[in-house]
Amino acid sequence: MRVLQVCAEIFPLLKTGGLADVAAALPPALRTQGADVRVLLPGFAPILHGLEEASVVAELRPPLGMHLAHGTRLLYGWLPACQVHAYVIDAPAYFRRDGGPYDDHGDNHLRFGLLGWVAAALAQGMDGYWRPEVVHAHDWHAALAPAYLRAAEESQHRRLAGTVYTVHNLAYQGMFGAHRFGELGLPGHFYAVQGLEFHGHVNFMKGGLVYANRITTVSPSYAREIQSPEQGVGLDGLLRSRAAELSGILNGVDPEVWHPGHDRHLAAHYDADDLSGKARCKAALQAELGLALDPDVPLACVVSRLAEQKGLHLVLQALPRFIAVGGQFALLGSGEAWMESAFRQLAQAHPESVAVRIGYDEPFAHRLIAGSDVILVPSRYEPCGLTQLYGLQYGTLPLVRRVGGLADTVADTRLETIDGDATGFVFDAFDADALVAGARRALALFRRPDDWRLVQQRGMRQHWDWTGPARQYLHLYRSLVH
Ligand code: ADP
Repeated sequence: MRVLQVCAEIFPLLKTGGLADVAAALPPALRTQGADVRVLLPGFAPILHGLEEASVVAELRPPLGMHLAHGTRLLYGWLPACQVHAYVIDAPAYFRRDGGPYDDHGDNHLRFGLLGWVAAALAQGMDGYWRPEVVHAHDWHAALAPAYLRAAEESQHRRLAGTVYTVHNLAYQGMFGAHRFGELGLPGHFYAVQGLEFHGHVNFMKGGLVYANRITTVSPSYAREIQSPEQGVGLDGLLRSRAAELSGILNGVDPEVWHPGHDRHLAAHYDADDLSGKARCKAALQAELGLALDPDVPLACVVSRLAEQKGLHLVLQALPRFIAVGGQFALLGSGEAWMESAFRQLAQAHPESVAVRIGYDEPFAHRLIAGSDVILVPSRYEPCGLTQLYGLQYGTLPLVRRVGGLADTVADTRLETIDGDATGFVFDAFDADALVAGARRALALFRRPDDWRLVQQRGMRQHWDWTGPARQYLHLYRSLVH
C-alpha cells in the first residue's frame, strides 16, 4: 500500500500545534504495519535544511496563477529527524520567508494551492518511480489535494488514487476572496456551493470535505460534534451530508518522545510501578519556577496555545480560588496578547504559587507535565487534544471539559469509579464554577494518596501509542484501494 501524507508541518522540524506531532508519528506507525509511506511538505527553511540525500524529481509547472520562478523544483529525500522519506517543494519565493509558516502575504491560496496541486501531480505519475495509491491530506493547507485529484480524474476519465482528508481543527478553513479562484487552475464548476464556494469566498477546507473519498477527524466525539450547528463552523450541513464517509480516529502519542521512563528532558525517570522519580521531578520544577518547595501542595499546569478555543479565561477566573485553597499553578503558552499579560500579572501577584512562562519551549513542556500533579484542559472545543494524553502517560491527572477528544480519552473520577475506570476529572459546563468544582474534586482525591496513586497508575498503564490509530487508518485506506 503506497500512501502519500500531505501536510504543512512536521515535528520536530516545524511545529505550530498537534498537527505536526501527527504528521511525524503516523508515517512510521503505518510503516510498521507494512505500508509504504512518504510525506509531501512545503519547503519551509527548517524542512529543506532537514532533508538529506535530496534528488530532483521534477521541475514544477503548476497553473499559470502560481507565478513560480524558473527552476522551482520538487525534491525527494530522507528526513532523518522524522525517519521518513519526503517530497519537499523547493519554491523559495513561496516558502523561504521570515515569520510564521501561515502568515499571509496575500498569496496563501497559491502557496498552499501548490501543495495540493503537487500531491495530485504525484498521483498522476510525476515521480516515475513511485506513485501513491492513497493520498491522505491534512487540514486546510493540504485540502486542495483531493480537489485537484478529482479535477484530473474528471478530465482523464479514470481513477487515480483514493483520497482521505483529515480535519484537525474545523475552525481554520483557509478562506480567500472569490477573485482568487481563477488563479488556482481548477475547473470553473468547482466554484459552486457543492464545491469550494462558501458565502462568496473560496474555502480550502471544503476542497477536502467535498472531494475526498473519506473524511476523518481526530476523535469520534469531534466527528459527531462538527455535524451540529454549534460546532460545525458553517460546514455542519455539508458534514451531515457526508456522514456515511466521516469517522473519528483518535491521535496517539509517540512513546519515543513522551514516556517518563526515558524522557531525556526530565530530572528523574519513573513509571507506574515506581513513582518516586515523579516526586523528584516535582521538586525540581518547583525549584526551577521559584514556587514554594512543598510536595504536599497540589501543582496544576497548562501547556497550550493561548487561544479562545482553549478556555483558558476560565482558568484566569478560577485561579484565585484555587490558590486560596493552597494550590500551585504553572503555565507554558503563547498566543493572544491580553491573555499572556493577564497570566503574567497573576504570577507577579502570587510568586510563590503561580509561575508563567510565555513562549514555545519543548523541553520545558516535558518538565512541566512530569513535575505537575494535574494538567488542565478546559477547552470550548477540542478535536483530539494531546496534552491530556501526555498527562495520562506521566501520572499527571487531566482535569478536562467533556468535549471532543477530551471526552473520549479521560474517564471521570467519582467514588464508584476509583476502583473502576477513573483516570482524571471531567466537567461539563463551560464556566469557571464548573472548573472550580472539578478542581475541588481533584483536591479531595489528592488528599487521599493511595486513591490518587491508583488513578495515576491506571492512566500510566494505558497504551496511547500509534499502533491502534495506524491500524484504523490502514483499514480505511484498504477500503479505498480494494
Ligand atoms: P492544538 O493542536 O490545538 O494546539 P493539541 O493539544 O492537539 O492542541 O497539541 C498541542 C501540542 O503543542 C502539544 O504537543 C503541546 O505539548 C504543544 N504545545 C502547545 N503549546 C506549547 C508551548 N508553549 N511550548 C511547547 N509545546 C507546546
